[in-house]
Amino acid sequence: MQKFTLHSHTHALNCFDGHNSADEMISQAEKLGFEAIGISNHFCYHPNVQLCSPMFYNDENKALDAHLRIIDEVRSAAEGHKIKVYVGAEVDFFPSASWRNAFERMLKKLSFDYLIGSNHFIRTADESQIYNIYHLEIMPANLTADDFKELVQQHWNNVVYTVESGYFDFLAHPDYCVIKIPDVPEFEENRWKIIEALDKTKMPFEVNTSGYNRINMQHPCDWMLQELCEREVPTLLSDDAHSTAMLGQHFERAENLLQKFGCKKRLGLDFLQK
Ligand SMILES: [Zn+2]
Ligand SMILES: [Zn+2]
Repeated sequence: MQKFTLHSHTHALNCFDGHNSADEMISQAEKLGFEAIGISNHFCYHPNVQLCSPMFYNDENKALDAHLRIIDEVRSAAEGHKIKVYVGAEVDFFPSASWRNAFERMLKKLSFDYLIGSNHFIRTADESQIYNIYHLEIMPANLTADDFKELVQQHWNNVVYTVESGYFDFLAHPDYCVIKIPDVPEFEENRWKIIEALDKTKMPFEVNTSGYNRINMQHPCDWMLQELCEREVPTLLSDDAHSTAMLGQHFERAENLLQKFGCKKRLGLDFLQK
């Protein structure tokens, strides 16, 4: 059984979406006998993002300042503990040159140990309109069904671009959007494109067990996971813990699934010892 998580969230700066402090998350990981915990709060920056959460930033300096403070907060909390603590970020990637330039400027000043490539938004191709999937109920009322379909298509494309970008140590919840957007047969083609991109790059992906709580499935879905295992794309388990109670949650169920699919390639902690 995997005894670590690299995907967890805290109530950083009193405005991020975890329910516990870094100290509480680290203490619980110790209690569970974990070898390590990685705290990976959301890194959501885009000049055009709809600011429906205080942890989303449309101002580069404010985003940078927040993440500098979060890194400090986690490193300070780690000092009182024996367990190995890493600081990562779950980054919402965007392919435009302007986003990449801003991201690279910020990264130079941020001492993250690792980066998770993630996608929580649907968007227009030109990134002028960006909406959070979790907050879909506050979409503009004038969007047509075709507009919405296009936004969702760009979301799926974005997952492929995230893999191809080369910025990230592993990919978060590849088919996350189905937590809120009904899964339809047309999505299958997009899932295949993600499989192809992961296979080509051999970029690791997570099996995200928080989906069991939301829609009774892990991300990625069964057949996608099986295909990725057969292609020997490296994987790791992520609880995506937003509270101490979620640490290590459903790992046994996911381990059994990986065993059933003959998974041979696991991402261990060694990539962090750089
Ligand atoms: Zn996520
Ligand atoms: Zn997460």
